[in-house]
Amino acid sequence: TQDLADLDPEIAGFLDQELDRQQRGLEMIASENHTPMAVMQAQGSVLTNKYAEGYPGRRYYGGCEHADSVERLAIDRAKNLFGAEFANVQPHSGAQANAAVMHALIRPGDTVMGLNLAHGGHLTHGMKLNFSGRLYNIVPYSVHEDTYEVDMDEVARLAHEHQPKMIVAGWSAYPRQLDFARFRAIADEVGAYLFVDMAHFAGLVAAGLHPSPVPHAHVSTSTTHKTLAGPRGGIILSNEADIAKKINSAVFPGQQGGPLMHVIAGKAVAFKVAASEAFAQRQRRTLEGAKILADRLSRPDVADAGISVLTGGTDVHLVLVDLRNSVLDGKQGEDLLQEVEVTVNRNAVPWDPRPPMTTSGLRIGTPALTTRGFGAEAFEEVADIIALTLIAGATGNREGLGALAKRVEALAEAHPLYPNLEPFGA
Ligand code: PLP
Repeated sequence: TQDLADLDPEIAGFLDQELDRQQRGLEMIASENHTPMAVMQAQGSVLTNKYAEGYPGRRYYGGCEHADSVERLAIDRAKNLFGAEFANVQPHSGAQANAAVMHALIRPGDTVMGLNLAHGGHLTHGMKLNFSGRLYNIVPYSVHEDTYEVDMDEVARLAHEHQPKMIVAGWSAYPRQLDFARFRAIADEVGAYLFVDMAHFAGLVAAGLHPSPVPHAHVSTSTTHKTLAGPRGGIILSNEADIAKKINSAVFPGQQGGPLMHVIAGKAVAFKVAASEAFAQRQRRTLEGAKILADRLSRPDVADAGISVLTGGTDVHLVLVDLRNSVLDGKQGEDLLQEVEVTVNRNAVPWDPRPPMTTSGLRIGTPALTTRGFGAEAFEEVADIIALTLIAGATGNREGLGALAKRVEALAEAHPLYPNLEPFGA
């Protein structure tokens, strides 16, 4: 019954500092969001204590009746939200969802095609140190050198040449939509599974603002904490009964022990929110904000600093800034924006001449700010702040940075985050 600030003031203090950091700054890491209080309440609940290995109605532990109700609701809501026949809501993370899909459908040594990490793919799509790169024979595909969009002719050519067992479509850093129907046609031509990882854009799909991969893919996965704005975790969706069976046994007992029932409760809450009109409206603002940012970063004052927007714009919730022609590198850009309290991450761009710890790119996303209440006008302001900060970095003229930090402060104050959340008071 002792509360956190009394029992462990050190941890309570760090949590207070993190709350303050999130409230004071502007979060623009494209894979992050601010989850509702209700989701955090579910995660901080007594379900934290519960072992529930197995699936609803088929558990290996007693006392699972309420855990069953929670998981059944989470499954039903996930299926309804994405129009899928089957959902597994147990993966602890996006990476574990992806590991389970590969575990279920292919064998070590099999050939898998995925988007090159350096071109926007995810670690779990074949990076050599990741389980995917270690267990499977990875054939990466790329973006086209003229358009920076996924080169579907290359996908088709490589598929016919290498006869993969699985083609992974999905990305962590890519500003356009993928052609799922074309991916499926290519997969069918070579007898491969099409696996779509929609971790980044699942919230847009839920809101009907991005094509859904679910009708096209044999199996789709997502994280639940990015555009979906739920707790950290993963889900797996499919429309095919024989795949569903394999997925369930690949997640448990294949990959995991006890599911995180408190997180599954949080997922259920997030799916309920994601089915609402308010959520759809937020996703529309997310897209609008990203377009405003791309437009501002395409103006001549930015171009004069050698800075541009990859593919010239965006169809999703993020913008990729190309710094290859700028003296400013990704690390410097990230640090400089942090100085004015805008948090982004540096990101390699295709054919990046700078090393991975430096990079020549920035990935900037709008979901968290939208959750915080940003609309077009606030996005215009933050886009201007970002543009001017990057120009300051590229020209070495730091004079205006103090004033830019003040403008960020004003935006943060005008859009309060978790106004009712009490600090622990450590
Ligand atoms: N898939 C994609 C496309 C991602 O971008 C990410 C995370 O960045 C993941 C999977 C992994 O999710 P997690 O960090 O929950 O393991």
